[in-house]
Amino acid sequence: TASTSDRRIRILNPRLANQIAAGEVVERPASVVKELVENAIDAGSTRIELELEGGGARLIRVRDNGCGITEEDLPLALSRHATSKIESLDDLEGVASLGFRGEALASISSVSRLELFSNVSDEPANGWRVVAEGREMAPRVSPAPHPRGTSVAVRDLFFNTPARRKFMRTEKTEFGHVEESFRRLALSRHDIGWTLRHNQKVVHQLRPGDDTLTIERRIGALLGRNFLEHALHLDIEASGLRLSGWVGLPTHSRAQADQQYFFVNGRVVRDRLVAHAVRQAYRDVLFHGRHPVFVLYLELDPTVVDVNVHPTKHEVRFRDGRLVHDFLFSSLHKALAQVRPGDSSAAPT
Ligand code: ADP
Ligand code: MG
Repeated sequence: TASTSDRRIRILNPRLANQIAAGEVVERPASVVKELVENAIDAGSTRIELELEGGGARLIRVRDNGCGITEEDLPLALSRHATSKIESLDDLEGVASLGFRGEALASISSVSRLELFSNVSDEPANGWRVVAEGREMAPRVSPAPHPRGTSVAVRDLFFNTPARRKFMRTEKTEFGHVEESFRRLALSRHDIGWTLRHNQKVVHQLRPGDDTLTIERRIGALLGRNFLEHALHLDIEASGLRLSGWVGLPTHSRAQADQQYFFVNGRVVRDRLVAHAVRQAYRDVLFHGRHPVFVLYLELDPTVVDVNVHPTKHEVRFRDGRLVHDFLFSSLHKALAQVRPGDSSAAPT
């Protein structure tokens, strides 16, 4: 039984508090990749390079050419509840950045050996390095050459949290998850150039461009040319909503719902309402138990969608769910008209 002194209330030391918070967002190497890349995107980068070793367990490095972090701000970059992205609850309404919680770097840093390098100038000698040391996670900033932009290197993920480390799978499995994170991120921003390396080998190299040819080349590289050869392109706008992208023909369906990419204002989203609308639209053209492949982009006024639902931000809440659902359903239903049996415009399949 605990003695009275054991039950005293005390404030957790910062590292421990951050490790507890890390439990929510840092599940495996793929989650680190997601958080670091989202920061690189929020920094306005046009080039993002990822380098991994050992499935990400040994090393995850994300390098960008974004705005960088000033020397004054560097001590805060690795602290919890420190963010440059929002200041007030009003800002949170309609937040356009991918991040806003100010937790990712603090959490990751508490469960790995994390080093951040940054430079806001074009003179490489003006770069800085920051690490968070000890239980207090005291920031230590020192000069270190780095080109304009930011690099974060995360080594030995979960080295100090054995319970988490045990849940890491083989290198191949972990890299599979990393590649899936990468796929979503690269599909979310066609205007960014990307490189993914694993164990010194280039896995993906994607050039930037918003024209259809470049986008199709990217989708082909990430999901296979076969998908595009069996997909319909759509771009529909109504009542302040815009849906664009590619939906797979029923002939290209899969046994699992593992190639479905849905983006809301550039943020990858898994949403029941969306899934339902898609299922309904495909209902009479797909066999039971088959799943369509799609890459779809929904754009709408950011103030009518709440992204602060879950720490990983994979869930969203639409202010007018009915409107979004019906718009998705009718857009997809219309697009699929040409393959619907018995439809007057039916084409042979
Ligand atoms: P959040 O993204 O929620 O603000 P993070 O812990 O991920 O919180 O990052 C903390 C802060 O560090 C960010 O708000 C941003 O100011 C800065 N930062 C992190 N990564 C980068 C980057 N790659 N480029 C520029 N600034 C960055
Ligand atoms: Mg972030």
